[in-house]
Amino acid sequence: MYLYISKISILFALYFITARFGLTMNATSGFASLVWAPTGIALASLLLYGYKLWPAIALAAFSVNLATGAPFLSAFGISVGNTLEALIAAHLLCRYADFHKTLDRTKDVVAFLIIAVLLSTLVSASVGVTSLWLGQIIPTEKLAEAWYAWWRGDLYGNLIITPLLLVLGTRKWGRIEAKVALEVSIFVLLMTGTCLLVFGKFHGSIDLPNLPFLFILFPFTIWASLRLGQTGNVVTIFLLSAFAIWGAATGAGPFATGSFTANLLHLHAYIGALAVTGLVLAASAAERMSALRALYESQSQLKSALKNRDEFISIASHELKSPLALIALNLQSLRKSSSLESLATKVQSCENHVNRLCTLVDDLMDLTRIRSGKLELHRERVDLSELTKEIIARQPASTPENVSVVTVKADMPVIGSWDRTRIEQVLTNLLSNAHKYGDHAPIEISVEMSPERNFAKLEVKDQGIGVPLEMRDEIFECFKRAHPGNAIQGLGLGLYIVRQIAEAHGGVVRLESGSKQGSTFTVELPTGI
Ligand code: ADP
Repeated sequence: MYLYISKISILFALYFITARFGLTMNATSGFASLVWAPTGIALASLLLYGYKLWPAIALAAFSVNLATGAPFLSAFGISVGNTLEALIAAHLLCRYADFHKTLDRTKDVVAFLIIAVLLSTLVSASVGVTSLWLGQIIPTEKLAEAWYAWWRGDLYGNLIITPLLLVLGTRKWGRIEAKVALEVSIFVLLMTGTCLLVFGKFHGSIDLPNLPFLFILFPFTIWASLRLGQTGNVVTIFLLSAFAIWGAATGAGPFATGSFTANLLHLHAYIGALAVTGLVLAASAAERMSALRALYESQSQLKSALKNRDEFISIASHELKSPLALIALNLQSLRKSSSLESLATKVQSCENHVNRLCTLVDDLMDLTRIRSGKLELHRERVDLSELTKEIIARQPASTPENVSVVTVKADMPVIGSWDRTRIEQVLTNLLSNAHKYGDHAPIEISVEMSPERNFAKLEVKDQGIGVPLEMRDEIFECFKRAHPGNAIQGLGLGLYIVRQIAEAHGGVVRLESGSKQGSTFTVELPTGI
């Protein structure tokens, strides 16, 4: 509440002071000023801090007009028009134009110019001038002139002040690099010097050409928009306008040719051209920069994808080649083998290697399925406890792959609607890892139902080499291995597939581990029934 009251008070004060200043600038019929910053302040405040600040605008517009001599009802009418103008612009921009307050896209600038600068200002000019006409402050013959002055004052208020406040208000201020600070300093020095030359008192005294001299300032807008971003641009436009108004007010510079009002009208056209050019240019430069950044990012993603692919090809060929080489070796010695016993051992060994090859190829096919979103589940009623015992019973005892003793704790039926083959794959992958990385120590498997009976918990615990802390999340990614230099072979796909299957069932897989402390993999699956 305190924050709201302080915001309202600050906005009220800013609006009131800048409005008083605007009304001193030779306002038509005393009210329609060509220099009207409050419109810009009001719109920027609503866009930055929300519509709820509207009472400050209404109150300030009412008080300042009453203080300037408007009848009560006219002041009320003007305040309604000014508040509506800001509310309508803010609403249309946010609701229909997907407006970015940073003005870093050309479409934001164009929407802002059409909605806020050209259209919403018609509301305040029309309502305000009509209120004064009804209050007999503006005579009928002055109606068009007052309306035009009012509209232009508001239009330039929004064009110059709103972008300045929006961009400065949303900018993330970080550390400024030394070379940027140097460029900004040179820019400010050169621009101030040129502005003093163009709009200062001595402009006339050194017989400079009049209007063509104004073109000197265009390169500054272009410099600011292209090199200093939208922030540099809006500040530059504001400073140029301030210098130009100062020149026109003090009777110096190219705009000091006729009455103050005529000077301001000329100056508006000039500043308007600079502001529109600068805003559009800075926005398209920002767009170009962000497109370039996106391009660099996708380029580096592409490079790392290519690196991953090459690594994968080398690992996969090595993994596929080792069992083939061993099969070839066994077949060679089979030819020479004489005893029946050694024949059986060698066939068994060949079978093991063929199984290993099949698993590798299955993993690769699963990877393709997962990547193309074709991992389908064929759910059926499964008792996880029974399935686990069945898989363990099926495991051939003491092969080179099954080196540890496995104990199963699955006392109660744990029933759910799952894909039997996929759940089998989860358990087989976790178990095979526990054998591979388990240091030949006993492995414990437990299956249980959650107390609420809504999900099942499968735990595979070994006492092996464990997983370093920094790799605990990564090992669930494709081709990621925590012990790559290790003699233990693998593609780095098993856990990735486990996680995909668990997630496809709406479940999760977690790891608790530390180096040399063994690993406990826990899979939680919603029962789905
Ligand atoms: P891999 O084919 O390499 O075994 P996985 O995806 O199954 O692929 O496992 C990824 C990595 O996670 C393994 O290379 C290994 O470093 C680590 N890892 C998996 N299970 C265990 C475990 N039980 N103990 C220690 N490290 C493990």
